Amino acid sequence: MKIVELFKTKKPVISFEIFPPKLDTPIESIFDALEQFKALKPDYISVTYGAGGSAKDRTIEIASKIKNEYSIESMAHLTCVGHSKEEIDKLLVSLHENNLENILALRGDPPIGQPDFDFSKNVFEYANELISHIRSKNDFCIAAAAYVEGHINSIRLKDDLVYLKQKVDSGVDFLVTQLFFENRNFYDFLDKTAAIGINCPITPGIMPVFKADQIKRIASLCGASIPAKLVLLMDKYGNNDEDMRKAGIEYASSQIRNLIDNGVDGIHLLTMNRPKSSKEILQNAGLL
Ligand code: FAD
Repeated sequence: MKIVELFKTKKPVISFEIFPPKLDTPIESIFDALEQFKALKPDYISVTYGAGGSAKDRTIEIASKIKNEYSIESMAHLTCVGHSKEEIDKLLVSLHENNLENILALRGDPPIGQPDFDFSKNVFEYANELISHIRSKNDFCIAAAAYVEGHINSIRLKDDLVYLKQKVDSGVDFLVTQLFFENRNFYDFLDKTAAIGINCPITPGIMPVFKADQIKRIASLCGASIPAKLVLLMDKYGNNDEDMRKAGIEYASSQIRNLIDNGVDGIHLLTMNRPKSSKEILQNAGLL
């Protein structure tokens, strides 16, 4: 099923994001978690694409298992950085052959160790070009990334929004946002996107804070700001893993409750492959 159809019948659409196990870990290590995620009845599960395509076969294999064995709708992330057109087309064929109908189409970050990577040498320089290409060839439901606080490389937020509109117009069915910790920023973003005529569903991405260090690292990579109330929690509980986990779960749950109260299209939970904590968040948020 195309996920965009879900947004027409359900609010909020609940989705989980998982990542494939590292290449030196057996792929089976994710299957136990998937069993537990299944019991939480998400509307769909998305599977990330390893930086530079390092785990691309695993992305498709896991997305296929979710869809074809667990009978849960799935979405494969796909980045075009470093890929030739032929490689992208091969991946699209593979997705199609695996009965996968949903793609989160991304440009991707610079390959590891190449912070000055020149994207203009890419076949597809920006995600909108990849999206136009997918649209011209296949009948996929296409999602794209959106940045509530602006993409980290954007010099002006205004330009980021212009490029987002261009991306949506190239054939996007719905948007999934980068993680954020302050809902007010998301509501502001919704006002701005509506003002420039972006009308597709926009699902907020929520990442629970399980470890203070981990969240500082992720926030510094993606540019999400950490509000004072979260800094206080990390100062208070950061030295105790279980206390930090519980505080992070409560923070994410209250973010989600507030988002639902404000009528969001969906909730995209970045599960970090942790079914137990994901279950607690859904329970706290009244979604189970
Ligand atoms: P784009 O939309 O191409 O934007 C990239 C930058 O270029 C932005 O600054 C934008 O403002 C600018 N820009 C866009 N169009 C133009 C233009 N025409 N002219 C000039 N500038 C332009 N990465 C992974 O490696 N694997 C994943 O699985 C993955 N999943 C993600 C899931 C979500 C929900 C999100 C939000 C991000 C994810 N990422 C993932 C990270 C993503 O790959 C990076 O943020 C990447 O740097 C940008 O990808 P994009 O598709 O948003 O790029």
